[in-house]
Formats: sequence, structure tokens, C-alpha cells
Amino acid sequence: MRLNEIEVQHYRNYDGLTLDFPKTLNIFLGENAQGKTNLLESIYVLAMTRSHRTSNEKELVHWDSDSARISGVIEKKTGTVPLEIIISNKGRKTKVNHIEQKRLSSYIGQLNVILFAPEDLSLVKGSPQLRRKFIDMELGQVNPIYLYDLVQYQSVLKQRNQYLKQLAEKKQSDLVYLDILTEQLAEFGGKVLFARLEFIQKLEHWANLLHKKISHEKEELAIDYFSSIPLDKENFSLEEIQKQLLQSLLDNRKRELFKANTFLGPHRDDLIFNVNGQNVQTYGSQGQQRTTALSVKLAEIDLMYSETGEYPVLLLDDVMSELDNERQLHLLETIEGKVQTFLTTTSLDHLNNKLTVEPDIFYVHQGEIEREA
Ligand code: ATP
Ligand code: MG
Repeated sequence: MRLNEIEVQHYRNYDGLTLDFPKTLNIFLGENAQGKTNLLESIYVLAMTRSHRTSNEKELVHWDSDSARISGVIEKKTGTVPLEIIISNKGRKTKVNHIEQKRLSSYIGQLNVILFAPEDLSLVKGSPQLRRKFIDMELGQVNPIYLYDLVQYQSVLKQRNQYLKQLAEKKQSDLVYLDILTEQLAEFGGKVLFARLEFIQKLEHWANLLHKKISHEKEELAIDYFSSIPLDKENFSLEEIQKQLLQSLLDNRKRELFKANTFLGPHRDDLIFNVNGQNVQTYGSQGQQRTTALSVKLAEIDLMYSETGEYPVLLLDDVMSELDNERQLHLLETIEGKVQTFLTTTSLDHLNNKLTVEPDIFYVHQGEIEREA
């Protein structure tokens, strides 16, 4: 999959901008605070409808404007598809083939992107929330039904927590309604869990191949889905998971009523990365943790290809300078030629003598972009 062209209007510090991308590797070069990340972010928003940096949509619109618009033409094996998103204080409007899309799940997945920023190197060390977001974003792109189930799960969870609070405050006493919410939670939560377990098995396969390569066959990477309920992670079916989640919620009811909160379910889960059988979060060196994060992130390229038959578009925001020489080479080797890449940097030093394909270089300066002649 490729992004052939993009048009950006009143987005962040861009007034208006049209660019086309005939080359596979596109490098955005510029000093700090010129708009490099803003441009990558606009591609990310075109794909995902939301920013990776903020949940406040107002920030995305140029200070002097009421609405921002991003449009692009993507090229897939099945043909070209125009995409468009308009962001204003009335919300987001999305179009595929110039037709407005009512459902998020019919828009997301048209353009698949993987964004890699320096903060992703903390995927291993960071909070469980970061790892859950990682799963949700990546899985949601290849599986729109997952997104739907997740949204349903979160909505029932919110209702259920509110109701538990009302029960605790004695504003309500009807436990039948709690039963209904519990069943609904187990239904959608089970679907979310099932999809995640399948996803992690596949991700582990691809990530381990990369990790072995980067570590010169010295290290094996295993990814374990850490669930708040007991699960058989080798042999699982949707029905069994839903049954187990329901049972665990019922077993835990006393505590939930006391604390007025839902403690079990996919919103409490985590990932554990093991290198040669040791938890790399706890015992790994910084280098091992970085290799793990890099392997897991790059594994998504192969995973998306195996799931959709198309390579995603890769967005690399300032990561080259964060990696040592050897990891830089591995990164470039993985992408060159086959994966369309948008890379930002403040200097070409890290790239010189390492590229095997001819890039397009764009200079970014105060919200304007010029292609190198
Ligand atoms: P660095 O190399 O430091 O990461 P960058 O080139 O990636 O820099 P960006 O984050 O893309 O920088 O751009 C930052 C600039 O964009 C800020 O200086 C800010 O003033 C400007 N900016 C951010 N949001 C808006 C907005 N809504 N309207 C206008 N300008 C904005
Ligand atoms: Mg930046």
C-alpha cells in the first residue's frame, strides 16, 4: 500500500500543502519546531482519524482557522482510493471515495500505518496502558470488528462502574440490572480477549524472527498476554473465554460492590516480554529493551502484510538518532524497497552511507515544505 499524494489545509502549522510521493523513501528534513512531526501526524490522522499525540482535536486545527482538512490518495493492489477527513468543532467527517462514512470501522483500515516515535522505545518499560493502547491501535487497523467490540466493551464498562457506584451509595438496589450489565461485559470482553490472544500469538511469531536476527541468533523473544482472569492461552475458544470472564466477574462481586469498580477484564491486562525466558521489563538491559521494542514494532509490518496482503505505510518520527548504528541498519534493511516510508530527521548524518534506495528529500521550514531539486 502506498500514499500517492496528500493535501493538508489549516492543519497545525500548515496553511495549505500539496505533496506527491513517487518514491518509496521520503525524508523530511528540518530544524526543531518546523512541522516535521505535524506532517507525519497528519498522515496518521488520515489513517486513524485521531492523533497519536493528543485527544484534543482543537489542537490539530490551525490557530487561525475553524476546521482542518486532510485528503490523500492511496494505492492498493485493488486500485486507488481517495480518503478525506475534516476536523472541526462539530467533530470529524470522513470520506472514502468521496462518500461520507458514518461508521469509524468502515473508514479505519483503508490506509494502514505504523508510526514509530522515540516514545515507542518505552513500549517495554512504560505503563501497561501504553501496551494496551498499542494492541488496540494495531489490532483495530487490521480488524475493524475488534474496534467495534472494544467500543461496546468500554461503553458497558462505564455503565457498569456507574451502576456499581450507585449501588454502593445505596441509590440503587436492583442486582438484576447488574447481572445484565455483567453478561454484556463478558460477551464483549470475551470477544476483545479472544482477538487479542490470537493477535499476540501472530505478533510473537514475527517479532521473535526479527529479535533473533538483530541479536545475531543469541536471543529468543516470547510475548505473553497477561490476563486478569485465568485463561488457557494455548487452546482457547471464544465461548470458553466469555464463560470464564463471566464466572470471574461473578466470583469477584463482593469486592466489586465494596470498591464500586470493575477489576477484571481486558481493560486491566498487560503484555509481558521475555527474552531467553527472562522478563525483559524487569531484568533486561536497556539495549535488550530497545531491541525488543524495535522487533515488536517492526513485526507489525510483516503481520499486517500477512493479514491484509498489503504492506502498511511506515512513519518514522525522529527515531534514527535514538538507535545505535546496528539497529539503524536493521531498521533500514527491513523497510527498504518494499515499505513506503516517511521519515523525519533534523540531520542526514545518521542516514548517509546507509541507504540503498534513492530517497526524496523534503525541506521543512515554518510550515512550508520544499522538495529537493
Ligand atoms: P522537532 O524536531 O522539535 O520534533 P518538529 O519539526 O517535529 O520539531 P512539530 O511538532 O511538527 O515540530 O511542529 C511544532 C510547531 O507547530 C510548534 O512550534 C507549534 O508552534 C506549531 N503548532 C502546533 N500546533 C499548532 C496549531 N494548532 N496551529 C498553528 N501552529 C501549531
Ligand atoms: Mg518532531
